[in-house]
Amino acid sequence: MSIPVVTTIELQSLPKLTSGKVRDLYEIDDKTLLFVTTDRISAYDVIMANGVPQKGAILTQLTAHWFKVLGERIPGLKTHFISLTPPPSVSDEDKSLIRGRSMQVRKLKVFPIEAIVRGYITGSAWNEYQKTGTVHGIPQPAGLQQCSPFPKPLYTPSTKAELGDHDENISPEKAAEIVGDKYAARIEELALKVYSTAAEYAREHGIIIADTKFEFGLDEETDDIVLIDEVLTPDSSRFWPASEYEVGRDQDSFDKQFLRNWLTKEGLKAKDGVEMPQELAEASSARYKEAFKLLTGKTLEEALGEL
Ligand code: ATP
Ligand code: MG
Repeated sequence: MSIPVVTTIELQSLPKLTSGKVRDLYEIDDKTLLFVTTDRISAYDVIMANGVPQKGAILTQLTAHWFKVLGERIPGLKTHFISLTPPPSVSDEDKSLIRGRSMQVRKLKVFPIEAIVRGYITGSAWNEYQKTGTVHGIPQPAGLQQCSPFPKPLYTPSTKAELGDHDENISPEKAAEIVGDKYAARIEELALKVYSTAAEYAREHGIIIADTKFEFGLDEETDDIVLIDEVLTPDSSRFWPASEYEVGRDQDSFDKQFLRNWLTKEGLKAKDGVEMPQELAEASSARYKEAFKLLTGKTLEEALGEL
């Protein structure tokens, strides 16, 4: 039996708070959300008409794995994770719609910036460097090659755009204006710490995390900064197979680059409602699953079997 691709879900047991490009957020109570990840995929800030098989489960299970690994390696790290099991208030019928793709999380005030960390020079950073020798306006050493590591990972925040808008790069000073001086330095420090810890773990498992995006929330009761959202998935990061890594050229990646390349080639970049060919959706699913297996040591089916 083939597993259905799920791009829209309407749960009956809980009120829906909002939908992002990929996720739907339901309210369990005033402090708790059910974070449901669909199989939707977006590229260049536009959602494709069709989804990627099992993507919602892959992203959910991988994020949960990272919360566990990071919690073990970073003493005192706070995350929004509560449980992979939906609360008893969710009906059996709804449970079957969200199997493997839901997470109970703490509902927090979201800092409206994307905390991007780059370990390697690629994508827009490589384009900028070739023109100006800078990345995110920060001067870089001469002689970096495409996909070289930076001397040390760079924090390059951006705004968090509303649905339909594009995120904009901002300086760390502008980020401090948005989130307040009190929190800006802590967010930067935490983002760099989580990235370097994850990059080291991933390298032990055959994957280079070239760059990634984190989101943080504020626990208003304790004034703690909390790691929220999805973390270190192929949607939020560039993952490269370490065994094939070579500087001076593009890398064959485990992430959305596949889809981005196809959209660019077909002249469909940033167009609404594009349908991917079925082979592309399936190939993307296979790539995501391969990254999942390398990072967790389990197949997705094994991970889902343990739920
Ligand atoms: P994309 O990831 O493609 O940029 P998106 O960011 O619009 O899309 P989704 O990932 O689909 O959104 O939805 C997740 C939403 O939930 C984001 O707006 C994120 O900021 C928010 N969010 C994540 N964790 C929490 C939390 N603990 N409390 C409140 N909101 C959260
Ligand atoms: Mg998101």
